[in-house]
Amino acid sequence: MKILRNSVGRYFIVFTFSFIIILSTVFRLVSTSALRQTQEAEQQKHLATMARELVYVYEMYAKQSGRATFYTNEGKLYLGSEKVEDMPALIDRMKEMSGLEFTLFVGSKRELTTIMDETGKRYVNTYNVLVWENYISNGKPYYANDIEIGNKQYCGYYIPIRSAEGFIIGMSFAGVPMKELNTRVSELSKNMTLIATAACVVAAIVILLLVHRLTKRQKVITTYMEEIDRGEFNHEMPEWITKRGDEYGTMGRILVNMNESLDGKVQRDNLTGLYNRGAAMVQLKKCFVEANTHDGAPFTFVIGDIDFFKKVNDTYGHNCGDEVLKKVAEILKREVKPYGFAARWGGEEFILVFKEKIGPAQKHLESIADIIRNTTVHYDDFDVKVTMTFGMVQYHAPNNLDYVITKADQMLYKGKENGRNQIVS
Ligand code: GH3
Ligand code: MG
Ligand code: MG
Repeated sequence: MKILRNSVGRYFIVFTFSFIIILSTVFRLVSTSALRQTQEAEQQKHLATMARELVYVYEMYAKQSGRATFYTNEGKLYLGSEKVEDMPALIDRMKEMSGLEFTLFVGSKRELTTIMDETGKRYVNTYNVLVWENYISNGKPYYANDIEIGNKQYCGYYIPIRSAEGFIIGMSFAGVPMKELNTRVSELSKNMTLIATAACVVAAIVILLLVHRLTKRQKVITTYMEEIDRGEFNHEMPEWITKRGDEYGTMGRILVNMNESLDGKVQRDNLTGLYNRGAAMVQLKKCFVEANTHDGAPFTFVIGDIDFFKKVNDTYGHNCGDEVLKKVAEILKREVKPYGFAARWGGEEFILVFKEKIGPAQKHLESIADIIRNTTVHYDDFDVKVTMTFGMVQYHAPNNLDYVITKADQMLYKGKENGRNQIVS
């Protein structure tokens, strides 16, 4: 990508992209752990309710047969006249409805449970002494997320089961495999990751667009500066830069002013504002290069000299002469602009370059000579008219520039000899 070749753009992109990646990673870690915590807390509440529900369901069922609370007899858990281990239908129904696993303990021993091994045998007559001794037998409900039954990890909630006399005789457990909780959390966090990724992509696109725009502005300004550096003052600064209210706009405007003042100092003739001879040579060399490329863009070179200009000075004064020079320069500049450019060659001599063949150039030059002929310069009470003599040559590769200039000069000389006020080509 082009903007990556630009070092400011690269710096900006690398910086912001690293920032986004770090931010989104931190966001993911934090949000996943927060999600896990809230999920587990919610789960815990639900499991507590369901463990109580299990006791309640059994007691409600037993109410019908008269004795509603649990009791133990010879190490077995009873309800009414029935052993709890002979009443699996209720606990299985609870599991079916809630999707949870349930166990009823007598003391620390599993008396009846929905948790089964691969062969479908219930994990009964196994023990959880730790929870029983440390918590439940002291009347404290307990939540654990590190319960291992078979080879499976469970999290679950234990509550005490009391006899009618208020003694703690067992535990009710509601739990769920850890895997389920993990899956749920990772499912939820996957969505969050998706949203975060989408946000990152949008941010990345916005950044790329922004960097692209910034580098484009920067490029325009750099190109403009390079042109100035090369002594080229004709480059245009686009308005969409100079009209900006930001730093780029300021830079653009400063550069345009700088360009103009340098242009004036280096390239322009003080009196007429035309290109001076040095600048004219630079422009001419460009035409020369273009004419010598494969396209061979033609150009026609003209030297013009005001006739009897010394007389103007002598008759009306040097200041009046200056006014005449200015007027002539103005006409030359304006009239030749669509086809090429004009420059002050020195004194009352000007050059014109038409970027076209001599045929059309001659027509344009004739009309320019006409305009000058018919122009009156008013100075004080004087009306001054002048004429010009022109020497005109079309450049042909592979001649050099000196040759063309000398040739045009010779033509001009011929015109002067032949009575002035004419074009010689
Ligand atoms: P020709 O038709 O043969 O060109 O005659 P000319 O009088 O125009 O030519 P010449 O070379 O004898 O005189 C040119 C004059 O132009 C002499 C010089 O004082 C005058 N001149 C040169 N530069 C300036 C300028 O900047 N201002 C004024 N007012 N006069 C200038
Ligand atoms: Mg002259
Ligand atoms: Mg002269």
